[in-house]
Amino acid sequence: MSAHEQPSHPRETTVVEAAPKQLFIGGKWCSAGQDRTYDVEDPATGRTLCTVADADADDGLAALAAADQAQHDWAQHPPRQRGEILRRAFELITARHEDLSLLMTLEMGKPLAESRAEITYAAEFFRWFAEEAVRIDGDYAVAPNGKGRFLVMRQPVGPAVMITPWNFPMAMGTRKIGPAIAAGCTMVLKPAHQTPLTMLALAAILSEAGLPDGVLNIITSQSAGRVMEPVIRDPRARKLTFTGSTAVGRRLIEQSAEQVLKTSMELGGNAPFLVFADADVDAAVDGAMLAKMRNIGEACTAANRFYVHADVAEEFSRKLTDRMRSLRIGRGVSDDIEVGPLIDADQCDKVTELVTDAVERGAEVVLGGRRGEGQGHFYPPTVLTGVPADARLTREEIFGPVAAITTFTDEQAVLDEANNTEYGLVSYVYTQDLHRGIRVSEALETGMVGLNQGVVSNPAAPFGGVKHSGLGREGGKVGIEEFLETKYVAVGGV
Ligand code: NAP
Repeated sequence: MSAHEQPSHPRETTVVEAAPKQLFIGGKWCSAGQDRTYDVEDPATGRTLCTVADADADDGLAALAAADQAQHDWAQHPPRQRGEILRRAFELITARHEDLSLLMTLEMGKPLAESRAEITYAAEFFRWFAEEAVRIDGDYAVAPNGKGRFLVMRQPVGPAVMITPWNFPMAMGTRKIGPAIAAGCTMVLKPAHQTPLTMLALAAILSEAGLPDGVLNIITSQSAGRVMEPVIRDPRARKLTFTGSTAVGRRLIEQSAEQVLKTSMELGGNAPFLVFADADVDAAVDGAMLAKMRNIGEACTAANRFYVHADVAEEFSRKLTDRMRSLRIGRGVSDDIEVGPLIDADQCDKVTELVTDAVERGAEVVLGGRRGEGQGHFYPPTVLTGVPADARLTREEIFGPVAAITTFTDEQAVLDEANNTEYGLVSYVYTQDLHRGIRVSEALETGMVGLNQGVVSNPAAPFGGVKHSGLGREGGKVGIEEFLETKYVAVGGV
């Protein structure tokens, strides 16, 4: 029996059975209209894990009505109490870390070690925003002509609509829910259809932590467009925050124009990873393993294109290939597994297509290059060298464990190539020359740069992209701004 074919362990069954599977509306668990449900699949086996409620448009609007009804009281809730709810939720997540990690691995496929890291990262957004809830301040000024005063206050924007992807099932939610709770906004959140269980488990935790009914409402559905469009176009919604593909983000920006919603968009990426001749090659390989293989390559921040200076290209490619070759592939529930399956058959097909295209255009396969056989959606760690500039994977997100390497010799030419994309989320630079590091970081057209570092994500830092990678920032001091409006009061007679 291969690692892909192991039967479910009793603990897996217990964790899945314990997870809520209904909609969470107005503080109550309820069925979708006509009791509709859909299947959630384990991507490592293709087998059904369980069924969850399949919301329709009326359920979505009921969730928005609950959020709208709760908004006024929630905005009046003392900031300290809002922060303390987040803090309690942080502690509950930490206490249930193992079960939540296993649940995430079962529905998403990533290895347990990565699920554990994500649960920790996700919980940190609650701790960070628990601390920010009490730091929402304003301004006071004497008018320049001395007549009158300016009072500037910050108020919650109102009910927020949140849509999240499957690749980070909890962190992409806590990155939005944390600041919304801190700011005093209510919410309707729809997780990706592939990974609803983690978010439903989080809703139960927030309820246990004391979040009042109606503040957070969760809608699970396999008809995202049909359910969410009426919610986005409804005048009770005041904010839309989306993490997902650029194509869907564009459509949602159009929909949000109707009610002139405040929008935040965390969209796709096409990260370049630059290794200069003066780089510490071993450090660059360590960084490349993180930037490429974290989340099986299914991350918006994943290094999509490696540009390596000709002087170190052979050493870098050889060492990266050795590390990629040594990774253990299998069902993520075993502690020794380092590469799990891709999320579904479509994703496996897309990676296959992109690799085939690159090879047809002249790239050489140094490692991997063929999808796994048997059950589950496995694609092996793959290294391609000599990837030509016209290969599709230099323009499109690979979202899989494929390192595409090209060599360069000229700094300006590689910067032009790195910036030659409509995306602008993150880039990575390896150099030991401080001046080059600063110069190149300034020239790269991305919202974030990893300078001698393969991971940039941190709840205390502003995460987000430029160009078609999005609008707004999540995390850091600015993360809460996305959920606040500024009101200016002109005080006369003073
Ligand atoms: P996706 O297809 O855009 O889906 C994202 C979310 O949008 C899911 O909940 C999906 O629901 C929903 N959705 C799809 N069509 C919709 C519609 N017409 N109306 C309303 N909602 C709709 O993206 P994905 O494949 O799940 O995630 C991968 C993408 O997310 C990649 O492009 C990645 O780069 C990006 N991402 C960006 C960041 C960032 O911070 N910049 C972070 C993580 C991921 P269903 O599941 O039901 O289709």
